[in-house]
Amino acid sequence: MNIDDKVTSICGVGPKKAKLLEKLNILTIQDLLCHKPAYYRDISSFTPINLLEEDCLSVIKAKIVSLPKWVRKGYRFSLFTFTISDGNGELSINIFNLPFLFKKYQIGDTYIFMGKTKKFRNRLQMDNPEIMHINAFQNFLPYYPLTAGLTQNVMRQIILNALKKVEFSEELTQEFLNQYHIDFLSTAFWNLHFPESSDMLLNAKRSLGLREILLFLYQIRNQNSEEGYATPLHLQPIDQDEYMNRLPFRCTQAQISAIKEIAQDLGKSVATNRLIQGDVGSGKTVVALFAAFVMQKYGYQTLILVPTGLLAEQHYHSAVKLLGEEHVALFTGSMTEKEKKNLQTNIEQGKTSVLISTHAILYAKVTFPKLRLIIIDEQHRFGVAQRSYMANQYSNLHKITMSATPIPRSLAMILHGNAEITVLNELPPGRTPVKTYIVYQNKRKDMYDWINQKVMNGEKAYIVCSLLEASEGISAVSVYDVYMELKNNYPQIKTGIIHGRMKDDDKTEIMRKFITDDISILISTTVVEVGVDVPDATIMVIEDADRFGLAQLHQLRGRVGRGNRTSYCYLICHKSGVERLQTLKECHDGFEIAKKDLIYRGAGNFLGTEQHGEMTFRFVSLLEDIDLFEEAKKILHILPQQYPKDHEFFEKKAQEKNTNMKKYLAI
Ligand code: ADP
Ligand code: MG
Repeated sequence: MNIDDKVTSICGVGPKKAKLLEKLNILTIQDLLCHKPAYYRDISSFTPINLLEEDCLSVIKAKIVSLPKWVRKGYRFSLFTFTISDGNGELSINIFNLPFLFKKYQIGDTYIFMGKTKKFRNRLQMDNPEIMHINAFQNFLPYYPLTAGLTQNVMRQIILNALKKVEFSEELTQEFLNQYHIDFLSTAFWNLHFPESSDMLLNAKRSLGLREILLFLYQIRNQNSEEGYATPLHLQPIDQDEYMNRLPFRCTQAQISAIKEIAQDLGKSVATNRLIQGDVGSGKTVVALFAAFVMQKYGYQTLILVPTGLLAEQHYHSAVKLLGEEHVALFTGSMTEKEKKNLQTNIEQGKTSVLISTHAILYAKVTFPKLRLIIIDEQHRFGVAQRSYMANQYSNLHKITMSATPIPRSLAMILHGNAEITVLNELPPGRTPVKTYIVYQNKRKDMYDWINQKVMNGEKAYIVCSLLEASEGISAVSVYDVYMELKNNYPQIKTGIIHGRMKDDDKTEIMRKFITDDISILISTTVVEVGVDVPDATIMVIEDADRFGLAQLHQLRGRVGRGNRTSYCYLICHKSGVERLQTLKECHDGFEIAKKDLIYRGAGNFLGTEQHGEMTFRFVSLLEDIDLFEEAKKILHILPQQYPKDHEFFEKKAQEKNTNMKKYLAI
């Protein structure tokens, strides 16, 4: 029997059972074997009958000592009963409404009985226990997701029959499997369904999970290589100190090692593809700009893509300080034709080595003769179409991406393919956690009074709303609502509004005013979410906070707490949304928050719909098996050289995937 055979080739599975199995998406033997138990019960230790306690789920091994007797034998209701003994005591077993089993139980047969004990007329008994052959299954009894018409026992029996008959063709080499303690396929499947110990079960799951992730990694590698790779640069080690001396602060340890990694990347014989993940404010920008610095030294060009005009502007200023004004340029959608022409000339002549832009550049006809590196900030904020456009247009470039939505590595690997990952797990010194409060609607007024006080003393605040204008049917406070409210209640406060539909130049102007104290409260939509850096803003108010995801709220909160003053974040909400928001109050670690968000919203939602198709792991949990992803990634690196046969096998399977979506396992 082959793994791809239909389930009907299993003994005991006819058309009727096949139909039921189909409801569980089980068509082939492979599907069946991959139908993993939802949980297991330990049946390895039996309770002696004389020690049974009332209302306890117990497992007994005992012999039938009395012939079954009918108590009632009706059409609608039937009951028969018999007695069992294990040498320590006797127990009555009652079987309700399963009249066809009456003949099955004979005196002298030994079974395992599992069920809850009940007291009746002061004696213990068991009603409809699970009754199993001894030795039929191992120490752990599997429980499967079922559909009406199938029972656990039937499912177990079908799987057992399949396991006994199927011939696994193991194509991975013994050396490879031994080296990484990966179970043979047959062992893995036996132990997945009928493990003898919990260690065996764990290794079975790990083995199947590793096979699955490895195949997945080969698949995404193929996808990436179809796009083509950049030509390696082989750059000589570059003086990192020279760069760091230009910074107005001392780098954190995390930044220093990230910069080192980038220096190494650029010298390697493979294209650079690195994801820098770090919590809000961890200082990713200077790390990425180091790569642009190296490029500049070698006469190459760098394109920095950012999701908003505000951020482009900000990066422009940082880059100018580090790399020199004459070498850095900003491309905006609002440039005149003449300005664009000028820019193009500078780029062509190699004067400009770093260009910073939003996605506007993707559609402008700017050509770079020596473009080698693309740095993408907050990549997840770009739309799907823009991302695929970038992937096509800039496929031959070295790539560094930055993300401040820290996500578990497993997910990062899914989203960013085979990128190497750097984690900035350290904030610059002197930052104190933002004091976070949950504010109910009825306390909102008091909070605003308090903020008024603070602002009169020279502090600055952001107020973020989920809506720009009031909208019918949505009961959320809008930017304009807040603007009018503040104007009426606190006419002396200088407020400003910023939102996504404004022209870039207008946004820049407002931000400039906010930085220079012409505006003390900035009321905004979520445009300020990404990257905006105004170090002396200390208060962040989020209206209708329950309308946002946790990771997003954490991002918004990250806009304050950048200077030395104590900062505050107020999450205004209705009582119902509180449980989720509580996480933010207690936790300041972006990675932890992202994990919680993932749990609340589910992976599909968290990643956006376009990733759905890739989330169908059978044996791997994205949240719990992060270590397994790490392990698989290490294996991936050494496979081609050390285990070429196994490497070939995965390659072949990865290519087959498109023709047969069901081949999720490398078997
Ligand atoms: P993010 O990782 O959120 O993109 P940024 O790169 O915008 O963070 O940095 C946040 C702020 O911290 C900036 O004002 C930056 O100049 C400053 N910064 C970065 N690294 C350090 C450091 N090592 N010491 C002090 N300030 C730093
Ligand atoms: Mg940033």
